[in-house]
Amino acid sequence: MRAVDIIMKKRGSILNPHGSSLTKDEINFLINGYVSGEIPDYQISSWLMAVYFNGMTFEETATLTDVMLHSGDVIELEGINGLTGPFVDKHSTGGVGDKISLPLAPVVAANGVSVPMMSGRALGHTGGTLDKLDSITGYTSRLENDAFRKVLAECGFAMTGQTKKVVPADRLLYALRDVTGTVESIPLITASILSKKVAEGSDALVFDVKYGTGAFMKTPEAAEGLANSLVKTAQAMGKKSAALITNMNTPLGNKIGNFLEIEETIECLQGNGPKDVMELTYALGTLMLMLAGKASTNIDGIQKCQSAITSGKALELFLKNVELQGGNVNKLMADVGKRRSQYRCDFKAKQDGFINIDAFKTGLAGVSLGVGRNRTDEDVCADAGFILQKHTGDYVKAGDLIAEVYGKNEECFSQALPVFESAVTYSKTKPEEKPLILKELR
Ligand code: URA
Repeated sequence: MRAVDIIMKKRGSILNPHGSSLTKDEINFLINGYVSGEIPDYQISSWLMAVYFNGMTFEETATLTDVMLHSGDVIELEGINGLTGPFVDKHSTGGVGDKISLPLAPVVAANGVSVPMMSGRALGHTGGTLDKLDSITGYTSRLENDAFRKVLAECGFAMTGQTKKVVPADRLLYALRDVTGTVESIPLITASILSKKVAEGSDALVFDVKYGTGAFMKTPEAAEGLANSLVKTAQAMGKKSAALITNMNTPLGNKIGNFLEIEETIECLQGNGPKDVMELTYALGTLMLMLAGKASTNIDGIQKCQSAITSGKALELFLKNVELQGGNVNKLMADVGKRRSQYRCDFKAKQDGFINIDAFKTGLAGVSLGVGRNRTDEDVCADAGFILQKHTGDYVKAGDLIAEVYGKNEECFSQALPVFESAVTYSKTKPEEKPLILKELR
């Protein structure tokens, strides 16, 4: 077998402009050859571009996912350390103020479903669950497989990042896609996300696929294309799966930042969460319970999620997880509502009108404040961020407080504030209210 023949097969020709489907052996040859160093970057780059233009069938996408998955460790859960399933996880394509994993995991765990969560770090305008958790004093979001299973067995959910041994093929391919203009390909995104999710050992997966300015997919149609590919490919790999298409044109919740989002998580678990965060937590939680066979209908699922909060069980599990992963629970609870960066300013309305707060620009302003990072090796600031006092659709008068803004230092405001100023726009008429959850796919 030669890499060049496989590239040409996918590329096609004048007589076959969309190319042809690759076999399992061909995909295996390319990916394993790349990981072992036998096939060079330039041939894989060319193949990635051919996939970008000609796509892949569901069967090819499932094969690519499976081959990538087996390039590294696949975590076994069932039966180890007394663990029993069902194991269900959710993946979000990322956004601004998207802290949903944090209240969701204990809410679902409180209903007897194990949630093994492997999350990511902030990059670009989007936040990262691991950076949020690391803002809790003492918390470690890096667990080896045994420690991960132990925490999961003791409190029903565990939070960690992917180790270097999980799907090494994705690390190599993603870096190459990033510099060859081949990131925005639905089969490549599907295989990248799914290989990592399947490697963590879940029986079922729920996807929150976002669309809008603050999302990876800008339109509902593009988000639906990705959601459909993720759900179908996961099912082809023997995993139960479902997805929600959700709106990310404006930030989620009132608080955006690392510790600020931990604080909002505790408010959610105490029954005082913002309406949008709770709506999404209950909708995703319901799908997770239904896939796990623990809820029969939407109403049943929502009631079970709500009672995990009203009974205090979900908060208890969250705090147990903090303790098991090394965090200082007493300090955390004492910090809530009080721990703030000393560098602060108020952002006030410039004029009267109904406001819109754009998610993407808010996320970019957040990077300048220190919430996120532009490069994977940059540090984030635990206490930077925004507390929104007004939201998209609210009417403001000039001078009203729109947001408290917290920065990593005094200097960062000169960069962050003009960007946030461009995120907030005013109109004379109330903008049409868009639903948070557009569609469910199963
Ligand atoms: N997130 C991933 O993990 N992979 C992609 O390809 C895109 C987003």
